[in-house]
Order: sequence, then structure tokens, then C-alpha cells
Amino acid sequence: AASPARLLECRGLSVRFGGLMALNELDIDVGRGEVLGLIGPNGSGKTTFFNVVSGVYAASAGSIRLDGVDITRAQAQNLSAHGLARTFQRSRLCLPLSVFDNIALGAQGRLDSGLWHNLFRRKAFATEARTMAAEARELLHVFSPTLADKLFEPAISLGMIDRRRVEICRALVGRPKLVLLDEPSAGMTHDETDQLMDEILGVRRSLGDLTIIIVEHEMGLIERVTDRCVVLNYGKKICEGRFRDVAADPVVREAYLGQ
Ligand code: ADP
Repeated sequence: AASPARLLECRGLSVRFGGLMALNELDIDVGRGEVLGLIGPNGSGKTTFFNVVSGVYAASAGSIRLDGVDITRAQAQNLSAHGLARTFQRSRLCLPLSVFDNIALGAQGRLDSGLWHNLFRRKAFATEARTMAAEARELLHVFSPTLADKLFEPAISLGMIDRRRVEICRALVGRPKLVLLDEPSAGMTHDETDQLMDEILGVRRSLGDLTIIIVEHEMGLIERVTDRCVVLNYGKKICEGRFRDVAADPVVREAYLGQ
């Protein structure tokens, strides 16, 4: 079972906060290479889904498999080793550090930094670190040549869209199989968001079968970039399909009206 067609398989996934089922027995599949939109009214569980898949919250029930590997109980800090990366709505850059250093932080997960491991593999470790530095540079050139010129400038000197680009490069440099994009439009103008998404989709093509799940309020963006959407309401999946179809679904319309 080396390469299942479904990259992500969630079965009966539940997250409970006290008496509240933030996710309620959710079955979600994401195909390899797919761009999936996760939508739904405020409080429907979208962020909780990202948090449980990325190991920030523990599942109360159910399972999560990524590329055939059970990651239900994986810790957030180990998920990049499993091929998962995410971006956040609010910037998490280390502002005094350079663009390059911020991106390099994203490659850390690929290095097994255990002491025992390094004692015996020091040379391989150094080689891999050098390879990643080269990759970070290369990725930036593909992703955004203008940003590549600012490689050693501190992140604090960058404008909003460049900061967002750095965060996306940081997520991509670890060569993830799955990227979770949390509100890429947050804090940016419409044109900037469009530009950024074009860059993401462009770089995605050069990275082969990268799979993306995107949470986003901008429905125009969702319509434009997703292959398929899953709609949540009160922690349950109420509809899935192409954006055009789910947007026309009366159950979905009702859920949004009711918020
Ligand atoms: P969305 O991202 O779709 O707006 P969330 O996943 O943030 O929704 O929230 C889903 C529900 O879970 C909401 O009712 C929210 O108040 C609740 N919730 C989210 N995170 C926590 C938490 N850490 N503790 C308690 N309740 C939470």
C-alpha cells in the first residue's frame, strides 16, 4: 500500500471541548494532488480540523491517515517529517531573522536532530543541511524572484504580501505532501491574494503532486482555486462537491443564512 490514491483519510474524526463537539464524526478524504476547499459558517469547525490534523489538538475519536500512515496521535512537531505543513492566519515569522533563516526553519523537520542520530550521521546531516539551504534558495527563485533578492534582509523589513510569501516558502521547503492553508487572504488586498494564490498554484505544478487544503472566507478565491469543497456546519460535513454545486445546495445556503 505504498501510494494510496487518497492522500488524507479521516474517519469518524471527533474533537470534543467539554460538552461541545467541535468536530463530530467527520469522514473526509483528500485525493493526491487535489486542492480541497474547507468552508462553512463561523464556528463550524474549520480551524479545529486544521488543528487536529496538524497535531495541535488531540482527536477525541476517529483516525487520520496521511499517505497510508496513521498520524492520529502524531505530535505537531513531528508532522513535517510525515509530510505535512501549514500556514497560519496570523503571521508566525520570526521578524528579526532574515528571509532565508525563516525559510530554513521550515526545513528543520526533515532533519532528524536527535543526538544519537547525529553522532553517527554528522556528515550526512551537514550535507542535508547544505542541500536544504540550496533548496530554500531555489524555491524562492521559482516562487518569487523579487523576494529572492531580499534573501538576507530581516523579515521585519518586508511588506505584508512578502511576509506571506516567506511563510508559504517556509511551509513548502520541507517538501510536504500536504499543505494546510489557513485564510491566505487575511490581511491582504484582493489583488494581492489573487497574485499570491497564482504563485502558490504555479509553484505547486513544479512540486509535482502537492495536495492542498484551504480554509478561506473569500468565496471567489475558493471557486477559482479548488477542485472540490467540503462544507462543515456544527462540526459535521453537510455537503461536498464542486464549489458551484455546493454553493447552490439549499442545505448549505441555509447553514450560511443561519449564522
Ligand atoms: P471555524 O474555524 O469554522 O470558525 P472553529 O474550529 O474555530 O470554527 O470552532 C469550532 C467550535 O469549537 C466553536 O464553537 C469554537 O468556539 C469551539 N472551539 C474551538 N477551539 C476551542 C478550544 N480550544 N476550546 C474550546 N472550544 C473551542
